[in-house]
Order: sequence, then structure tokens, then C-alpha cells
Amino acid sequence: MEEAIRAAVHAAGAKVLEQLLSQVGIGRREQAVRCLCGAAMNSRGIQEKSIATLLGDIRFARSAYQCPRCGKTRYPGDEEVDVVKTRYSPGVRRLVADFGSDAPFKRVSRQLKMAAALDISRKDCERIAEGTGQEVAGWFEAQRDRLRFQEPPPPEVPKTIETLYIEFDGTGVPMVPHELQGHKGKQEDGAAKTREAKIGCVFTQILFNEKGRPIRDPASSSFVGAIETAGQFQWRIYAEAVRRGLFAAKRVVCVTDGAEWIRNIVEIHFKGAIHIIDLYHAREHLLNLCKLLFGRDIRRLNHFKDRWWDKLDEGNIEKIIEEAHAHLPQDEQDAKTARTEIGYFETNKERMRYEEFFNQGLFVGSGVIEAACRTVVAQRMKDSGMEWTVRGANAIAALRCVIQSNRFEEFWEQRTA
Ligand SMILES: [Zn+2]
Repeated sequence: MEEAIRAAVHAAGAKVLEQLLSQVGIGRREQAVRCLCGAAMNSRGIQEKSIATLLGDIRFARSAYQCPRCGKTRYPGDEEVDVVKTRYSPGVRRLVADFGSDAPFKRVSRQLKMAAALDISRKDCERIAEGTGQEVAGWFEAQRDRLRFQEPPPPEVPKTIETLYIEFDGTGVPMVPHELQGHKGKQEDGAAKTREAKIGCVFTQILFNEKGRPIRDPASSSFVGAIETAGQFQWRIYAEAVRRGLFAAKRVVCVTDGAEWIRNIVEIHFKGAIHIIDLYHAREHLLNLCKLLFGRDIRRLNHFKDRWWDKLDEGNIEKIIEEAHAHLPQDEQDAKTARTEIGYFETNKERMRYEEFFNQGLFVGSGVIEAACRTVVAQRMKDSGMEWTVRGANAIAALRCVIQSNRFEEFWEQRTA
């Protein structure tokens, strides 16, 4: 009974919607319809198309226009209702995109049938979700192009954001074989199974807990990300930081793993920022260094691990470097590997002054970006057996970023505008 009544209600609603939309599709137009080439277009009468809406399929009657100069056809009604070159309404597309950002398309197709009485094939769910994701990506790109050249306000403008955090990192996405050609990987034979998606997160912090530790402002995190080069990604993360108030922040903090491409972006775009190497990455490197130096001697390994762990917390990196050099292994090859690891501390020592950072009330762990890599990428894209194209993965990444940044409604509103 429920389902029968729901179907009847939908059918009645569909009739109403059909009538309302026909006024949009064929109403008289005050001004001549123009082609992109500039010519006034000629009316070609009324044409109907079917649109799948949340209330079921409806007929949409709208006027067609053709350009006498270049022959292009336009349906102004489609543009007003946001159904250009698609038979799915914005309401349906939003729903499919939201579901599809979260779950495999086969499941989306089944759940839409049950939850919304919508009959959309797995393949169409994929097309709609990825198509919407690409539109979101295009919207992001247009914003990026505006923001990257935004000038900072004059210095007398008061700064309103206490601390702005910028974190970013890479994470692997499993790819179809043809997307992996020419890409080096971590498999034994040098082959790749994944490509790196670069994910960024920006958030603000004002409050502290009773122990004086910083608390991330609730709902202040926004996310960006795509499979792309560091050269492309630098503008993605920079523009997002500008949008979130880079110029209005009293303090800017980057917490990263210190990889070279990441250091470069911080140095180019966030010059005045406090750059912190994530404490947990630093500890991992420290443990690795201990293994390289004392591998076979567990007692000394543990001794120096504890000793240097404390030095690390104090931010006394020079001491670690000095003592590590005094314990280099005899074997020349082993010593070389150990020197490389010591080099990591040498390069990053100014970014490891943990006691000082702690006293300034700063986050020193990159837990936020690691969680972001999981929520933006891993949860949806790393299920067993999944393989993505760059195009598909980037569309879904755009969707997950816009939704998790609480900006999906904003995306649809600007389309209406
Ligand atoms: Zn034309």
C-alpha cells in the first residue's frame, strides 16, 4: 500500500511539475534568442523531451531555436531548468551524485529504486555522478582562477582569524592498467598499481581545551584534491587557503610529512607560515634511524630510541644529529643509508622544534590530513577490486570534497543563479 500510494502521489506531482515547467519552456520571450556566435536565432517551434525527475518521468515541452549563420540549436528552456544535454533533472542528479560519491554505482542504482522509486541503471548512475563531479571540478577551477591572483589587503586591515592550518599529503588510488603506463610504482618489479592523489585540508582554530591544547573549530575543515602534478596542485591548495582567509589569519601553520614537493609548495606559497613536520612522521624516521644504526643490538636500539624520542619532543634536533653521527655503522653501504636518514633531520630541523610549537599552542600532528586522505579517497576508492580512470577518480574526488566541505548546496545554488 505504501508503495502504491507513493507512486500515485508521485504521478500526481509529476503532472503539476509538467505544467509548471511548460510555462518556462514555451513562454514568450522578451528579447531575441542569440547564438553564441552573436546572430539572432530563428524559432524552430516546440519540441518535447522526457525528463526523469524526483516525481518520475515528465514531458518537457520547450521552444527550439536555430542559428541562421552557424546552424547551432539552442533550447533556452533547457538552460533555465538546468537540463542541457541531459534527461535527468537537477534534483535527480544531486541525489545520484550524493549517493554515488559514497557507494559503488551498482548499490546506488538499487538504493535509489528503493528509497526514491527511481529506475536508473548502474551505468547511468556512474555517468550522472561523474558528470556532476566534473561540473563541480569546473566550478572549483573557475574559483581557483579568480583566487590565485587575488591581492592581499593593505596591512592595516585587521586580521580576524586566529590560526589557519593548511595540511596536504598524497595517497594512492588504484588505477586501470592503461592509466599506469609510464608510471613507476612500489611493486617488486617496479610496476605501479596506484597513482597518487594529492589531498589538502584547510581549517581554523580559536579555542583550547582545559589542558591548553588546541581544538579544531567545528565544521571548519574544507577539502580539495585530485590526481595531478605538484605543479597543478600548488594552485589548488593555495587558492583554497586564500578562500579560507590566508590574508586574514594572524598565524598560518602548515603541518606536513616534509616530502620535497610539499616543502617546495610551502616555501613558494606560504612563506610566512610556521612549517611543522608531523610529529608522528618524525618519530617514524627516528625509529628507522635507530634500526639503521643499532639494528642487531636491541638493547642499544631501545636506549637511543627513548633518549632521542625525548630530544625530539624538546626539539633538540642538533643533539640527535650529533650523536647519530658518532654511531655510524662500519659497513660503508649501511653508513650511507644512515647518513641519508640523518639528512632528513638536518633538512627539517627548524620544522621539528616541538617544544616551542607545543608552547605556542599549535597542533604538531597531521592527523587531520591523514583522516582526510581516508575520507576523501580511501573509503570510496580503495575497496578491493576497484580500479579507476583519472577522469572518474577526479570526478568522485571533487564530489567528496564539495560534500565534505559542506559546499554541495552552494554548488547547486550558484547554478540556479
Ligand atoms: Zn551561430
